[in-house]
Amino acid sequence: MFNKILIANRGEIACRVIQTAHRLGIRCVAVYSEADRHARHVAMADEAFLLGPAPSSESYLRADKIIEVAKASGAQAIHPGYGFLSENTDFAKACEANDIVFIGPPASAIASMGSKSAAKAIMQDAGVPLVPGYHGDDQSPDLLRAEAEKCGFPLLLKAVAGGGGKGMRVVEAMSEFDEALAAAQREAKNAFGNPDMLIEKYLTQPRHVEIQVFCDNLGNGVYLAERDCSVQRRHQKVIEEAPAPGLSDETRKAMGEAAVRAAQAIDYVGAGTVEFLYDVDGSFYFMEMNTRLQVEHPVTEMITGQDLVEWQLRIANGEALPLQQDQIRLRGHALEARIYAEDPDNDFLPATGTLRYLRTPDENAHVRVDTGVVEGDEVSIHYDPMIAKLIVWDDNRERAINRMVQALEEYRISGVKTNIRFLHALADSAPFREEDLDTGFIGKHEDLLFPPAQLDENLGLVLSACFFLLRSKAEQTLPADPFSPFARQNSWRLNSQYARPMTLLSDDVQHQLSILEQ
Ligand code: ADP
Repeated sequence: MFNKILIANRGEIACRVIQTAHRLGIRCVAVYSEADRHARHVAMADEAFLLGPAPSSESYLRADKIIEVAKASGAQAIHPGYGFLSENTDFAKACEANDIVFIGPPASAIASMGSKSAAKAIMQDAGVPLVPGYHGDDQSPDLLRAEAEKCGFPLLLKAVAGGGGKGMRVVEAMSEFDEALAAAQREAKNAFGNPDMLIEKYLTQPRHVEIQVFCDNLGNGVYLAERDCSVQRRHQKVIEEAPAPGLSDETRKAMGEAAVRAAQAIDYVGAGTVEFLYDVDGSFYFMEMNTRLQVEHPVTEMITGQDLVEWQLRIANGEALPLQQDQIRLRGHALEARIYAEDPDNDFLPATGTLRYLRTPDENAHVRVDTGVVEGDEVSIHYDPMIAKLIVWDDNRERAINRMVQALEEYRISGVKTNIRFLHALADSAPFREEDLDTGFIGKHEDLLFPPAQLDENLGLVLSACFFLLRSKAEQTLPADPFSPFARQNSWRLNSQYARPMTLLSDDVQHQLSILEQ
């Protein structure tokens, strides 16, 4: 096994990788930006190197500096985490050129999946089911119009180079096609420098079901069941779970085998995720393959009892897959909620600020918190505003949901707005409990998901004031002589009543309180 690895990432995923590496006796090198000098991942690592200023382009995306640090520190391999350089072919190649193991697939496999249309062509050849549509190179408007007619409506225009839901447009009828095409092409050109489009039949009530695959260097491939990530907002996942509710063993096997076929078609190595759309009639279609560890990998770990980062490290080290397909067993049900610094009542505007108070639920066999922050840390504009991932496990879905609801109630954050109340309403809602899942879930159930704050603000201020008063009393030390006038614990004043002033800050608004003491 490696003696030392570098983690080219920050936040919860950097901490997560360091944890497993340490358990395996591997020393860890962290890299950080000026904004992350005191970050948790830096404190956890054995060595840490400054990359540059806060913006990612000057720090976590500086492939050249990261390779330099790896060489200077003697790291034998680099774990890229997710985001940043994790799906960057040039970075994977640069690692190889410098004799550093890239803990991920070969550059050629990343490149094969980099274009949605090229990926679809490869999958078609491998016999993996595709959403009907067009994914050819010819982009002339006449041909695209003819293909749209053939596909039928509603259809989805998707940027070939797309990601993060950008450059996508639903088209309801031919009369809207030209305008939608121009708009989607413009958006794709701006976001990815490539206006090319593919056309897909638009499924109106699909679920997003993805398969976790792993392949080693010896030609073996397995799938570790699926995750249901149907609860999305603007095509971004909000709550993920495993296994997918209601998926039959036959469908799981068929999807799993198709996913392994997909991975093997591109000589894949390491952890990968094959995303499918799962339609109401039980059919499924390849959507895309993510060539890295996913944010939501913990739910797979909880139901399989495996450590996927350990699998990644072992495979990168040239070892065979830790388990064969028939040795992979599933147990119980797991859910993950992404806790974000954002304001659900204000169109989920990302929030920034200092985490003034932070208490997480107790961690045990049922509750896990993956995080990269501690109390006092700053949530800045520079990076993804995810504060933590809350993961729960239990024997079945209902019990797991109860655990999630309870854990969300125990989560305490102040200083930064979060989506905790929204997640709680979502997890505890009847349609979620009843497995009424599809990618339109949040839009469909808006009336249930935005509950007003339960605590009336005045009551909140009074309770906060009581808390501070009690705490300051408890902290006072008594003078040696208990009968001295200075030992008095009340605020008695000759001829006057004392009003203790207090200023409380709540949601950026200052409240002036006067507390009359008798
Ligand atoms: P991106 O790479 O931009 O995230 P994806 O192709 O992964 O785009 O699709 C993101 C989401 O869009 C999916 O999870 C699903 O909710 C929705 N989606 C994608 N393709 C279709 C389709 N053909 N029909 C209906 N919904 C789709």
